[in-house]
Amino acid sequence: MPRPILATVHTAALQQNLARVRQSVPDARVWAVVKANAYGHGIERVFEGLRGADGFALLDLAEAERVRRLGWRGPILLLEGVFEPRDLELCSRLDLWHAVHCDEQIDMLAAHKTQLPQRVFLKMNSGMNRLGFTPERYRSAWTRLNALPQVDEISLMTHFSDADGPRGIAYQEEAFLRATADLPGERSLANSAATLRHAERARIKSDWVRPGIVLYGSAPDFPEHSAADWGLQPTMTLSSKLLAVQSLQAGDSVGYGSRFVAEQPLRVGVAACGYADGYSRLCDTGTPVLVNGVRTRLLGRVSMDMLMLDLTPLEHAGVPFGFGSEVTLWGRSSQGTTLPIDEVARAAGTVGYELMCAVAPRVNFGVDESSTAG
Ligand SMILES: *Cc1c(COP(=O)(O)O)cnc(C)c1O
Repeated sequence: MPRPILATVHTAALQQNLARVRQSVPDARVWAVVKANAYGHGIERVFEGLRGADGFALLDLAEAERVRRLGWRGPILLLEGVFEPRDLELCSRLDLWHAVHCDEQIDMLAAHKTQLPQRVFLKMNSGMNRLGFTPERYRSAWTRLNALPQVDEISLMTHFSDADGPRGIAYQEEAFLRATADLPGERSLANSAATLRHAERARIKSDWVRPGIVLYGSAPDFPEHSAADWGLQPTMTLSSKLLAVQSLQAGDSVGYGSRFVAEQPLRVGVAACGYADGYSRLCDTGTPVLVNGVRTRLLGRVSMDMLMLDLTPLEHAGVPFGFGSEVTLWGRSSQGTTLPIDEVARAAGTVGYELMCAVAPRVNFGVDESSTAG
């Protein structure tokens, strides 16, 4: 028997979240962002749920090959473009579109021998200061690209730093619009947060939106909004089982460093999930967890293979528990209750993105293909 920890990917929830994006920006085409192995879900496991997208966006050529192997003939975009000249050969062979964010990538294209010109997305650094040409240098990059026989259509792209927060997108959007006003080509601006929070503008200004995290059912702007507020469904459930139940007296402690000390008699569940499964050790006493669908809390320090839970709420609710009881670390319990990954992430001082991406290779994965996300 493998350890009982299991990550389940919910196909219907992926479909529903994609539909939610389309509702927000009905006229835009949607890149389903599946970088980082589909935010830790597994590209092959999300493909069925996301095949209704207009294209797949990712970073790794190996991941692009996997999408093609699944039979996808539509657009694939390399969000960081190519890393070395021979990547361009793979772009030709697999028909990949690629971002161009620096002069070195234009040099590679200029030196590339190809039969078929390639479709590129020219990236502007409109204020994020990560990748892209500044607005001042953007036009000369466009002109240079446009003169190359290796280049087919040029699309225009930028990325927002603050779509999820108070600064918003206006400062970058204005820089982008000013610098691209008379350039032809399709536009791609909005990530998840911009697609939901700035839908009015994303709708007008984007031919392509690039949502990632919302497809995976996490709110881009938690805790201002929850996933439920945005009508998103959790696409991954991390579940396990109780391996043991301990009975503590007042004054007894739990786990490494005796970090939690019982103030009164207490029943403690020991779950088969630890930081070596990707569950953050930064989660401390109080982090929410479900046991048999009932919400309770983590106690003490997360260890490598186990973590401990307070069973008091189950006793109060009269819900039986014991060896083998279901533990839901995030996602949906068998009883139908949900624990948003964003709440767990917040307890660890991070975001849902990091938790989903961190699920460890030793965790078994499954796909739930049932047709309802509820
Ligand atoms: C990761 C990424 C996205 C998706 O971001 P989310 O916040 O997950 O929606 C969009 N565009 C680019 C360039 C990215 O790197």
